[in-house]
Amino acid sequence: MRLSIFGTGYVGLVTGACLAEVGHKVVCLDIDAAKIDRLNRGELPIWEPGLEAIVSRNVAEGRLEFTTDIARGVAHADIQFIAVGTPPDEDGSADLQYVLSVAESIAREMNTFKVVVNKSTVPVGTADKVRQRIEGILRERGVALTFDVVSNPEFLKEGAAVGDFLKPDRIIIGAGSENARKVMRELYEPFNRSHERTMFMDVRSAELTKYAANAMLATKISFMNELANLSERLGADIEEVRKGIGADPRIGYHFIYPGCGYGGSCFPKDVQALARIADDVGYEAELVKAVEAVNNRQKNVLFDKLASRFGGARALGGKVIAVWGLSFKPNTDDMREAPSRTLLESLWAVGAEVRAFDPVAMEEARRLYRSREAFFLASDKYSCLDGVDALCICTEWQAFRAPDFDEMQSRMRARVIIDGRNLYHPERLREMGWVYDSVGRPSSL
Ligand code: NAD
Repeated sequence: MRLSIFGTGYVGLVTGACLAEVGHKVVCLDIDAAKIDRLNRGELPIWEPGLEAIVSRNVAEGRLEFTTDIARGVAHADIQFIAVGTPPDEDGSADLQYVLSVAESIAREMNTFKVVVNKSTVPVGTADKVRQRIEGILRERGVALTFDVVSNPEFLKEGAAVGDFLKPDRIIIGAGSENARKVMRELYEPFNRSHERTMFMDVRSAELTKYAANAMLATKISFMNELANLSERLGADIEEVRKGIGADPRIGYHFIYPGCGYGGSCFPKDVQALARIADDVGYEAELVKAVEAVNNRQKNVLFDKLASRFGGARALGGKVIAVWGLSFKPNTDDMREAPSRTLLESLWAVGAEVRAFDPVAMEEARRLYRSREAFFLASDKYSCLDGVDALCICTEWQAFRAPDFDEMQSRMRARVIIDGRNLYHPERLREMGWVYDSVGRPSSL
């Protein structure tokens, strides 16, 4: 089948590459000409395991193209995906300007029937807005063309996006017409070979399912962080509590790790947006709002621990602090809303100097904080520690799990680790003479 995808970011590029991989002919569009130029030169704008090979293979075999030419993209296919950003507006609600602008572009250029598939995460009711926007423009143009609007939210995880897309837990399709369901079933047929993964539902339920999934996951994290903070105050160990509750199959072990807060381009914005969606229909989503509040507080935990170790925030002025891990989670270079950024900015605010290392997010960190003084990006995890007063760990990259503690000690001014991901055994570190504080476990501070 042929399809076009508006938006060549994490979701659009992975969707395009993976749908080409199973044999469809895909045109990916973006308004960012520099991004399209890079892709046409064979460079990927994002770091995502396994993506480069799929992109280059499908480009070489003629199933995947990149362009800024909207008319060409619209003419290429009956199926038009919208995969553009839906960033938070000032009040936290999802900003739909990019989604609606794509709807307009499609409406202006279309000359035949289209199925418009929304893959962006959007508030309930957006499909209706997309439909109205397209109808309005078709009326202006004085043409009588038919189209369907489908909701097909995306559940891929950055860092595992290719695998998630090729072997999805489920494919959610919200469609109001039999014809749209038929087209979508055929499009995703290659993913249903081992068992049926596609779930058809009404459009509004599909739109809400995406927010429900992200809010549920964020709730699990905030809940565990709340209990971690309590454990510290009660002299309990959250890791023991985690294992104790995870053994109950109704709870399970997945996604109940305490830490220094969730980040990324999805959880923070989607939790906020869900709260605003509820406000709009006059419902106070108390739990959802608390999830966000707990997370905002948790992002300060590393700084607070550091400050209490050094005798107050002001005492951190002039100190040199190492930070391991800048991306919001391992296996991605994405630093949007990353807990590391809250820590970096708090450290700079009190006049501390930062030496940082991340296995892949260095270029992104340079781009974000290019003009920052008091910020040094080290070439490896050990040189990052040269002359520092303490190390903070923000991301649980594999490379940080079993470091050479002797090497670390020989480079650092003091043996202090504040670990936002509970990577090491507190007892072992204490035996080795480290001051070690983590989240929700007894500390040696
Ligand atoms: P992104 O910011 O990486 O990419 C969006 C792209 O859309 C950009 O390249 C931008 O230039 C382009 N764009 C904007 N307006 C356009 C237009 N009118 N025509 C063509 N291109 C245009 O965003 P993303 O992370 O891929 O997220 C896209 C959507 O998918 C969001 O709604 C997000 O919430 C959702 N989502 C993201 C993830 C994720 O892990 N990143 C997972 C599931 C769902």
